Amino acid sequence: MAPQKKYVVEHMEDGISPWVLLEYLAISHDVGGGGKFYLTSLMPSLKMSLPPQLVDPEVATTTSTDVIDLPGVRELAGQGRVCLLDPGATKDLAPQDAQVFDWFVFGGILGDHPPRDRTGELRKYGFEGRRLGPKQMTTDTAIRVVKMVVEDQIPLDKIEYVDFPELRWNKHESTEMPFRYVKDGQTGEPIMPDGMRELIRQDSNRGFDDFV
Ligand code: SAM
Repeated sequence: MAPQKKYVVEHMEDGISPWVLLEYLAISHDVGGGGKFYLTSLMPSLKMSLPPQLVDPEVATTTSTDVIDLPGVRELAGQGRVCLLDPGATKDLAPQDAQVFDWFVFGGILGDHPPRDRTGELRKYGFEGRRLGPKQMTTDTAIRVVKMVVEDQIPLDKIEYVDFPELRWNKHESTEMPFRYVKDGQTGEPIMPDGMRELIRQDSNRGFDDFV
């Protein structure tokens, strides 16, 4: 049997914003338990503020959404079979990569517009890189897409996406999200973490540069 795929998110933000938290919860839910989701480089003080679904092993075993903590992705450097999901990579991820990689590393970074290439900080570890097409995705979307490609064997260009969706609040107000999302097959809507629309709505009155 092929080894199970493991998803590593290297936390790269200073604190842990509500946006990031909702993404991590969505990832934990999507990836499931059994040592498949690693959230790395979290300061101990941040760990204290995480909801139990992300840290409590008791909850983890009963809800099967555990997060296993590694000190950092540098622990994986030099191990082989590790893929960095890198918007700057020259090669796109393909279903055959399931035979090449077991570990998939992502930047735990808020999406930004225009992108600042903070994923570049992870390139220094020498991981082989793969791109998920030319458009920036949120971290939870990137993991969703990698799972579809390597676990479900769906090529990148056969996945249905919603690009830069406009979230409409009323007749006069809307917010455009400058990212690519996976399309929900039933509703046609972009798949976003639970609670994310409400958070965006609350923030839409404030003006912002950084998004999830
Ligand atoms: N602007 C960001 C940066 O500074 O690199 C992109 C961050 S993105 C919100 C978070 C993570 O999702 C990235 O670090 C990368 O691992 C993954 N990701 C997002 N879009 C991607 C793409 N098109 N190709 C490969 N990886 C992607």
